Amino acid sequence: MADVKLENVCKRFDDVVAVDDFNLTIEDKEFVVLVGPSGCGKTTTLRMIAGLEGITSGSILIGDRVINNLPAKDRNIAMVFQNYALYPHMTVYQNMAFGLEMRKRPKDEVQRRVQEAAEILGIQDLLVRKPKQLSGGQRQRVALGRAIVRKPEVFLFDEPLSNLDAKLRVQTRVELKKLHERLKTTAVYVTHDQIEAMTMGDRLVVMKDGLIQQVGTPLELYNAPANKFVGGFIGSPAMNFFEAELTASGDSLSVQTGSFSIDLPSEKANLIKGYGEKKVIVGIRPEDLSETGDHVPGKTIPATVEVVEPIGSETYVNVSASNLPLVAGLGRTTQVKPHQSIFLEPATDYLHLFDIRDEKALFSNEQG
Ligand code: ATP
Repeated sequence: MADVKLENVCKRFDDVVAVDDFNLTIEDKEFVVLVGPSGCGKTTTLRMIAGLEGITSGSILIGDRVINNLPAKDRNIAMVFQNYALYPHMTVYQNMAFGLEMRKRPKDEVQRRVQEAAEILGIQDLLVRKPKQLSGGQRQRVALGRAIVRKPEVFLFDEPLSNLDAKLRVQTRVELKKLHERLKTTAVYVTHDQIEAMTMGDRLVVMKDGLIQQVGTPLELYNAPANKFVGGFIGSPAMNFFEAELTASGDSLSVQTGSFSIDLPSEKANLIKGYGEKKVIVGIRPEDLSETGDHVPGKTIPATVEVVEPIGSETYVNVSASNLPLVAGLGRTTQVKPHQSIFLEPATDYLHLFDIRDEKALFSNEQG
């Protein structure tokens, strides 16, 4: 049983604040993904949990035990790195057995545990090979095997799939999820890839500039991003954003920009009643725009098609609407062509509004 708590954890490297006031409880058996752009502090956070990096202030606990000053080797944690970090002169078996032998486990126990892990990962036939005789995907499994044999309280993964080709990444991420289902060990996983994060995590922690932006399940973050950054980071292609003016007419409220306006559904209008600013940032996901035959003021956006990107299951259409670049997901059968004039209808139940200054969401779509 191991939950991991980070309380007010900060990490400074001289002038650089790599991680700032980080607070998070990772529940026992949970799979939590730290995700964010390069330099946001995710690897530093992982390394502090592992004990490979000291903390500047705050506390890290496993269960009820503060582990701030516990050396890495005494934390019951196993880490899987991006570059696998296998010993080139040792066989797969020796690589997997090494950690247990260092801990002076009896020989028969080491053998049993390595065999068990090899079976779980389907690498029994590779035990006699050296790392250079393995493919990238096989090396990755050995690195996982080396972590599994330790039966740690917590697994830490630092971008473990980034050296694999696109197809193998998808396969391995499914295998990792199955493995987690089977072993049910608390896991913290770092990636900059939001699809990987969404597909693997029970919960995601979105980071930027050393600060947590939002913590939630994949769908909580997708449906109700707390700010513009999370809205733009989660989801692919990214959410469309534009500045617009809030205009009231009677009881109803619209967002107006250039030559089009969008009426807000009454529930959303109610949620921002009393909002003091005139301007807002509007967010619409490409998949929440559809093509419609006629222009209806307040409901549709007139646009000119610029680039059509068919990917088979979906067609992403890049348009210009009053000089705003927007991307719309128009389905696999759309026939639109460049230079064509079309009308896009936003699904206003899924519209997002963000404050023009602090970029925080004005309402959550889960309430709306
Ligand atoms: P990436 O995805 O590129 O690995 P990251 O989100 O994991 O990025 P970190 O490696 O945690 O980011 O780095 C966070 C910040 O701390 C960055 O600004 C980085 O330059 C800085 N940093 C990390 N390690 C050190 C170090 N040893 N000395 C000085 N600054 C560091």
